[in-house]
This record gives sequence, C-alpha cells and structure tokens, in this order.
Amino acid sequence: MFRHVEIGEIERAKNALPHYFAVLKGDEQPNFYHARRVEVSFSRDSPLEELWQAHEEGIEKLHDNEISEKPGQSLLDLKILIARRLLERCILCEMKCGINRRKQKGYCRVDRSRIASAFLHLGEEPELIPSYTIFFSGCNFRCVFCQNWDISQQSTGGVYAPGEISMEIAVAHMQGAKNVNFVGGEPTPHIPFILEVLRHLRVPIPVIWNSNMYMSEEAMKLLDGVVDVYLADFKWGNNRDALKYSKAPRYWETVTRNFLLAREHYRAEFLIRHLVMPGHLECCTEPILRWISENLGRDVRVNVMFQYRPEYRAGGYPEIARRLTHEEMEEAVRLVREFGLKNALIG
Ligand code: SF4
Repeated sequence: MFRHVEIGEIERAKNALPHYFAVLKGDEQPNFYHARRVEVSFSRDSPLEELWQAHEEGIEKLHDNEISEKPGQSLLDLKILIARRLLERCILCEMKCGINRRKQKGYCRVDRSRIASAFLHLGEEPELIPSYTIFFSGCNFRCVFCQNWDISQQSTGGVYAPGEISMEIAVAHMQGAKNVNFVGGEPTPHIPFILEVLRHLRVPIPVIWNSNMYMSEEAMKLLDGVVDVYLADFKWGNNRDALKYSKAPRYWETVTRNFLLAREHYRAEFLIRHLVMPGHLECCTEPILRWISENLGRDVRVNVMFQYRPEYRAGGYPEIARRLTHEEMEEAVRLVREFGLKNALIG
C-alpha cells in the first residue's frame, strides 16, 4: 500500500490519533502498561462468572486511573486467565464454535497459535510505518477475494513461546518500529497468546489490533485496556454481502456493536479501513461511511482504499472479478466529502 504522503497527512492522523502519537513521543504509556499495573484480586480456581466480576472491577479501576506500582495480581494477569478458560469452549469470536481449542481446531482453523511471518512492514498507513507486523495463521472469515489466503485459510507457520515473541518485538522497537501490529488472518483467535506476549513485553510500544472486528462481546472486554489503536476493517454495509463474500453471518450488527464498544475502551482510537469493492458503492461504501460519520464522528481516521484486485476465488463471482472503475473511485471520494470525514486518507 505504498502511496505518496501529502503534506498535512500526518497532521490529519495526529488529529485523529492523539493517544497513539503521545505514546510515540513518550508522553503517554501504551494501554497494556496500565492494565499490568491495575491491582485485582482473584483466585485461579474461581468460576468464570467470578473472574468476570473481578475483571469488571479491574476495568473500573483502570478507567479511574487507579494504578499500583507493583500489583500482586494484575488486570492483565486476570485477562490471561479468562482468555485461557474461554479457549476450552471457544467463544472468542461471533462464530462461537464452543469447541475445546486445546484439543481441536475451530472454524478459524486455529488450535495453537501459529505465526506465519513477522517483519517491519513499510506498506501500511504513513502514521504506522515502520510497523512490526505479526501475521498469525487462521481466520474466522472466508473472504472469496482474500489476498492472504495462504495464511488465513491454512494452519501454517511456527509455534513460539510468548516470551520469544516479546523479545522479537523489543528488538523491532529498537530498530525503529513505531508499533506492534497483530494481524492474520485474524488476530482474534489468538487473544490468549497475544495477552501472554504483552505480559512479557517491556518496551513502551503501541498495540495495533488489525482485525475484521468480528469479536465476541467477551473478547471485546478482554481487549479493553490492551489495544491502543483498532486498525479495523469495515468491509460490508449489509448482511447479504457479508454472508455471500465472507461467509460471516450477522455481520452488520456484530461489527457496529463492536465499534461502539471499542469507542468506550480505555484510551482506544480507530484507524478504520474500508476497501471499496467494484459494484458495491451504494450497498456498502455509502452505508459504512454514513454510519462512521454518524456514530464515531467526523474526526475519526478512515482509510478508503482503491487497491482491490480480484484474487483467490473472486473469479467465481463475475460481479467482483474486476478492478474499480475511475467513476467508482470518484464516487467514493464524493461520499467521503458528503459525510464530512475530515481525517480520511483516500486512494
Ligand atoms: S475464534 Fe471464533 S472461529 Fe475460532 S474457534 Fe473460537 S469461536 Fe470458533
């Protein structure tokens, strides 16, 4: 996604992402630093409902900035314990398979977390690069045009200890990485592993959650106080297209719910990506940009992208087996203006 960076582009990003830029400058700490310093009290053998109750109390403390220097048990420790429990009947995403991920793979094709690759990515938005991007394998979607299908639709890559990955992130930070960018596939099935990585991580690097936003409400709670920026794919403006092209039921209500939940998360910010699809301006681009403007505000950072290419199985769907036309790009630009999205990146 290399593109010419216009003068003022970083200024627009700064307007939309003040916390992220404050972490880069060293004026604020990443959110997981705080989740690690909120004291909570729990017993490892307690039933899940009691753990959630302790979690709620911890989240209240976090939002009230009740931070301890050296907590015996931290909110992050508790999140890890709950996440591990959820794996036993996995409901981390809205697919809610309910299977024991310690014994078998879910619909996402994930049992243990596998990493297909990790490197300093220079192809993301200008405010993110260089971004230390960790590609996990597996995905809860089946997008017929997936560009990363070899990662997302297969269980591939290496199994690592969380401490090894936190070391790699620290090295990348020293080499100039502005953030750690958890992606896939989809990062949601890997929440237990990622939380463990953050427990070990000792460098103040912002956490980017590069996701399709199809998390369950439980997963959203676990991400509160951990994610600094939701780098969120907002793909479909209606459930019919989401089911047809991504095999994602109840897409619209799930994703919009999660955006509204994330809006309330501790110091979390958004960078929302919308990939404009051929023939889907009226049914997808328009309702998505309208919803963002009306619900998240006109200052939110949005990247309206024109780089769709018919890959993977898109050839089986003649209506999306082409690139965008010039007129479609112009219409997308018009919609960004119509909905007054001031900090949008287009093209
Ligand atoms: S992450 Fe979602 S798709 Fe994967 S096992 Fe859990 S509920 Fe199923």
